Amino acid sequence: MSGQSVYLDYAATTPVDPRVSERMSACMTMGGVFGNPASLQHDYGRTAHEAVEQARSAVAELIGAEPAEIVWTSGATESSNLALKGVAEAYADRGRHIITMKTEHKSVVDCCRYLEQKGWRVTWLPVATDGRLNPEDLEQAIADDTVLVSVMMVNNETGVVQDIETISHMTRERDVLFHVDAAQAAGKIPIDVNRQGIDLLSLSAHKLYGPKGIGALYVRRQPRVRVAAQIHGGGHERGMRSGTLPVHQIVGMGEACRLAGELMNDEAGRVSRLRDRLWEALSELPDVLRNGSAEHCVAGILNVSIAGVDGEALHAGLSGLKTPVAISSGSACTAASQESSYVLRALGRDDELAYASVRFSLGRWTTEDEIDQVAFAVTALVNALRRRSPKWLQPVEASEPAMAARHSQFSDEVWRYYSESLHHSGRGKEMDKEGLVVECGTPGSRAVLRLAVQMDAERITAADFQSYGCVSALAVGAWLCDRLQDQRLSEISISSAEIESALGLAPIKRHCALLAEDALGMLKEQWSLNLSDTDQRAAS
Ligand SMILES: *Cc1c(COP(=O)(O)O)cnc(C)c1O
Repeated sequence: MSGQSVYLDYAATTPVDPRVSERMSACMTMGGVFGNPASLQHDYGRTAHEAVEQARSAVAELIGAEPAEIVWTSGATESSNLALKGVAEAYADRGRHIITMKTEHKSVVDCCRYLEQKGWRVTWLPVATDGRLNPEDLEQAIADDTVLVSVMMVNNETGVVQDIETISHMTRERDVLFHVDAAQAAGKIPIDVNRQGIDLLSLSAHKLYGPKGIGALYVRRQPRVRVAAQIHGGGHERGMRSGTLPVHQIVGMGEACRLAGELMNDEAGRVSRLRDRLWEALSELPDVLRNGSAEHCVAGILNVSIAGVDGEALHAGLSGLKTPVAISSGSACTAASQESSYVLRALGRDDELAYASVRFSLGRWTTEDEIDQVAFAVTALVNALRRRSPKWLQPVEASEPAMAARHSQFSDEVWRYYSESLHHSGRGKEMDKEGLVVECGTPGSRAVLRLAVQMDAERITAADFQSYGCVSALAVGAWLCDRLQDQRLSEISISSAEIESALGLAPIKRHCALLAEDALGMLKEQWSLNLSDTDQRAAS
């Protein structure tokens, strides 16, 4: 897989910059800086301590902080846990009200939920359709018992940048602490904790070409912000976060931050030109909607919703292209709980559009060639899916997306019929002309199957279908059409169990087989109705 697929998932994680991994490698073995930075009695420890402090300065410099204000953690998730729970605990006597946004990263959302269970009051602010917070909503939400406002700088799904300074004016005025999740902002846009009035700030190394498993929390010293430790043992990091410091990780994060500061301007320019190029190409397709503000957005992220196609069919198609695109739906949606992105729904997208969304995230090694290749492949795939979709009514050019022969997530049969259906998408060829057309769907039309056949007396001479739904829904339609070809309608009987076993459908896809069984039943019914019509006409 790796090596040939185009990586456009930099917002999920970035590869480590070779300059970073080189520095890290020098911190592990006997000849290197492997010592425990707390063992100041000997050289090994002292050298490690120096390396850690140098990295601390590099991280501080990237955000305009003092080195002493940086606390090492395992990543932004832990940083935000420490910030939110730590502040809640330390300031519980002052008040038990926290304000945050509906579109925060899960690490902040889940901390707030946890605190809610422990008796804190949490206000979840909405965002406008462009993904930005309305400062007036915040102003109204701040109460006498508010201790903390937590607003992310850059959203991980949409790339939308919040107006941090306007928010901090309000928190300062009302004497409320301000935490910012900057995991997606650091190294992409300038950060200055003093100018921007930030009290606590979460960082993660693996979003800016550093290693996974290391992050930092900035904790303001003047005026001093108190944070109750959440991990105890040894009193490292001024008592806020215990545990032996992982020197190689820390040195990696330091080098990544140093590089980010050096490269940020040029990189943001180059990456945003590539992002705009991708958007220009994709927006040639009708009804491709950009999610979130285009103006207030980091360089590397483009999030779009594609009308008329199902999210799973789209994502499976993208990962099953001959040259696959490694992207993310932007939401952590699992096959089991097909839940669409809560972030996109907060921006006002309906469930279908939120589900049929793609987050392209570009970065340091993305090339123009890759962008052109992806734009071309995505366009072909969307066209092919739309030609098959009963929910897409506009004309679509014929397209032949180049699909891979196999896909590890699906049975060979499901994948074969799905990709074939995209190749011979004969929309309109048979449909709606003379012949029989039936349509059935699951409740709420999550999946729709439309079947059309042409008959010569009782023999089916041609069968075609349209389908909106997952990969299996498309595969089932294609399989059924194959199976119906040249058959006598009255003699066919196909059960959903037969369809399931023929295609090797997973049990959670049973509804697709039932849909096909229904469609066939309706077709027979329609046929007999037509027959009796003809009989009656003949009789009269
Ligand atoms: C990735 C990410 C996190 C979590 O960072 P980890 O270091 O993986 O724990 C938190 N917030 C945002 C916005 C992120 O993108």
